[in-house]
Amino acid sequence: MSEFAGKSVVVTGGASGIGAAITRTFHAEGARVTIVDLDAGRAAALAGELGDNAFSGGIDVRDRGSVQAAMDAVISQQGGIDILCANAGVSTMQASVDLTDEDWDFNMDVNAKGVFLCNQIVVRHFLATGNKGVIVNTASLAGKVGAPLLAHYSASKFAVLGWTQALARELAPTGIRVNAVCPGFVRTGMQEREIIWEGKLRNMTPDEVRQEYVTLTPMGRIEEPEDVAVVVRFLASDGARFMTGQGINVTGGVRMD
Ligand code: NAD
Repeated sequence: MSEFAGKSVVVTGGASGIGAAITRTFHAEGARVTIVDLDAGRAAALAGELGDNAFSGGIDVRDRGSVQAAMDAVISQQGGIDILCANAGVSTMQASVDLTDEDWDFNMDVNAKGVFLCNQIVVRHFLATGNKGVIVNTASLAGKVGAPLLAHYSASKFAVLGWTQALARELAPTGIRVNAVCPGFVRTGMQEREIIWEGKLRNMTPDEVRQEYVTLTPMGRIEEPEDVAVVVRFLASDGARFMTGQGINVTGGVRMD
C-alpha cells in the first residue's frame, strides 16, 4: 500500500497544468486530495472526474480571509491536512522598462504572497495538532536565474525560494519539512500564454518560440506537468525525510545548480 493512502493532500492551483498533475499523482496513490483554485468550477470538474477521495473548493491565494476559509474547510471535512502543495501561480510577460505597477503587484501577490499565506496558515495547523506535515512549494527555474521579459515573475519566484529556505530552517526542529520544485519550460496553459506574448515581444512565431524552449533544454523536449508531479511526490515522501529548505530543479538539464 502507498505511504500516501488516506493522507489529506491540498493542492492550490490544482485545477490545471502542474497542479492537476500533482493532484492526479497523489490521488492515484490513494490520498484524499482537495483541489483549491481560483477557478472553483474547473476544480470541481477535476474532482468529479477523479471521483472517490477527490474534493474541491474555491480560494484566492492573495487573500488571507479566503485562504483561511479554504484551509479551515479542508481541515473540518478531512480531519486535517498532511501535505500542502502550494502551486498556484501566474505570469505576465513584459520588458522590464515597460513594467507597470499592476504587472508587478499581480505577480508578487499571487506567487509570493500566496505562498506565504498558504504556508503560514497550514503551518499553524501543523503546529497546533503536532502533525509533522510536509510542504512543497512550486517555485521556478526563474527563481534561480533572472528570466528576460519576466523580471517581475522572477522576483516573485526568488521570493518563494527565500521564504522556503527560511521557513524550513525555522521549522526544522519540529520535523515539519518545507521544500520547493523549480520547473523549466512546462507544457501548460501558462506556457501557451507566454509563448504568444514572447512571440509578439520578440517578433517570432509561436512555433519559433516553442522550438527555442526545446533547444534551450539539454534533454531535448518540452517538460510535461507529470515530470514535475513525480518530484513533488518524492519531496513529500518519507524517502525525502532528511531534505528540507531545498529548491529542486526539474528542468531537463537547463540549470545544474
Ligand atoms: P496554469 O495556468 O495551468 O495553472 C495555474 C493554476 O493556478 C490555475 O488553475 C489557476 O486558476 C490557478 N490560480 C491562478 N491564480 C490564483 C489565485 N489567485 N488563487 C488560486 N489559484 C489561482 O499554470 P502552470 O504552468 O500549471 O503553473 C503552476 C505553477 O508552476 C505556477 O506557480 C507557475 O509559476 C509554476 N511554473 C510553471 C512553469 C511553466 O513552464 N508552465 C515553469 C516554472 C514554474
